[in-house]
Amino acid sequence: MKGIIMAGTSRKNFDWLAEIPKKVLCFSWRAKMERIPSAVALNRRGIGAISNIICTHCNQALECADHLLVKCSFARTVMVWILRWCGISGTNFESVTEDFVEV
Ligand SMILES: [Zn+2]
Repeated sequence: MKGIIMAGTSRKNFDWLAEIPKKVLCFSWRAKMERIPSAVALNRRGIGAISNIICTHCNQALECADHLLVKCSFARTVMVWILRWCGISGTNFESVTEDFVEV
């Protein structure tokens, strides 16, 4: 499987990518391809009886992979907490499908 990095960066800066567990890379790739089991994806596939595809955390948008992982206010709050815990400040994540590219 290929790795996924942020657009505009080079693979040279991401040698640590080999240290990322395969399951994390697989999830990232599936998120980029809109293949994680979000309400929108499940509804599109006709799986389950999903009557509401609006995000249950913020009730502001459709629950797609991009919204669940990056755009939702709840997701952004969690991401800021995790980044702060890792000692990283600021992020430019705007979209799972656009900010990540395969290398
Ligand atoms: Zn939301």
